[in-house]
Amino acid sequence: MPRRMLIVIALGGNALLRKGQKGEVWEQWATATAAARSLAVALKDVNAVITHGNGPQVGYLLEAFNSLPRARPRQPLYLAVAMTQGWIGFILQHSLEKAMPKRKVVVVPTRVVVRSSDPALRVPTKPVGPYYTREEAEELERRLGWIMKEDPRGGYRRLVPSPRPVKVLESDYIRELALQGALVIAAGGGGIPILETGEPVDAVVDKDLASSLLARSIGADRLVILTDVPGVAVGYGEPGARWLSRVAVSELKHLHRMGYFPPGSMGPKVEAAIEFVEATGGTAHIGSLERALEVVAGTSGTIVVPG
Ligand code: ADP
Ligand code: MG
Repeated sequence: MPRRMLIVIALGGNALLRKGQKGEVWEQWATATAAARSLAVALKDVNAVITHGNGPQVGYLLEAFNSLPRARPRQPLYLAVAMTQGWIGFILQHSLEKAMPKRKVVVVPTRVVVRSSDPALRVPTKPVGPYYTREEAEELERRLGWIMKEDPRGGYRRLVPSPRPVKVLESDYIRELALQGALVIAAGGGGIPILETGEPVDAVVDKDLASSLLARSIGADRLVILTDVPGVAVGYGEPGARWLSRVAVSELKHLHRMGYFPPGSMGPKVEAAIEFVEATGGTAHIGSLERALEVVAGTSGTIVVPG
């Protein structure tokens, strides 16, 4: 019997919470159920590792910590990331097992090593959590030493460092489980960041970059990134935007240098795809979660190919 294809499939925040939803528990189940149905068709005949984002959930936890009475300890950001791996991992696991009764689904809490010399550790750039007023922001800076920044959408948000992932500590077990046919949910929220020294660190790793690293570490044949748009566009949001269906990695690098893919949304997906295709000679696919089957097969979305 030929070996089944091994893929890493990254789910965007919209797999658990759609834009505009408040996060009621029934909304989370309904959205995860829809995502699981879409994935069930796509993953029927492949071995797969599923990764996911955690932006809204980590923000929610930070907000909850912060509304505790003063005497109660606040938990660090890295523990909030760990909590979201259990929270989202469980909801996806339960929904996927319902949608695919024959498959075992395993959640692996995952740590990702980042370098203490990474300059990104010293410059917080990534906004997380809720929006605060100027007075609240100043008080949080004083009391907790947070770095706050005014957001273009109004209000102030906490900025945290977003270092590059260099190693996924659990990758060997993840690969093993996936090759045995389990659907493995791993590297949630980009993984819990750990320095080479073993110290956890208050930062968040980009989930698309972590997924690409994981895909390379386990020898995946394909990297698939599912989100809430049909693929990668040049001139996104402008009249005459051009959706890319098939693009050579060299061409995509050129477009990225031209600034078509903003940091924090399409930028990291494009970088994740470039790194995977250059390192492995496989293909990377970016498309919409609703069309998971077609995106995995390469008949919908953007396929990044070597060359
Ligand atoms: P996810 O939660 O899936 O990681 P993101 O919001 O981080 O989702 O990234 C997907 C978003 O990227 C889309 O909803 C879209 O608004 C935005 N985007 C920015 N530039 C582009 C582009 N060039 N092509 C397609 N989408 C883009
Ligand atoms: Mg994102």
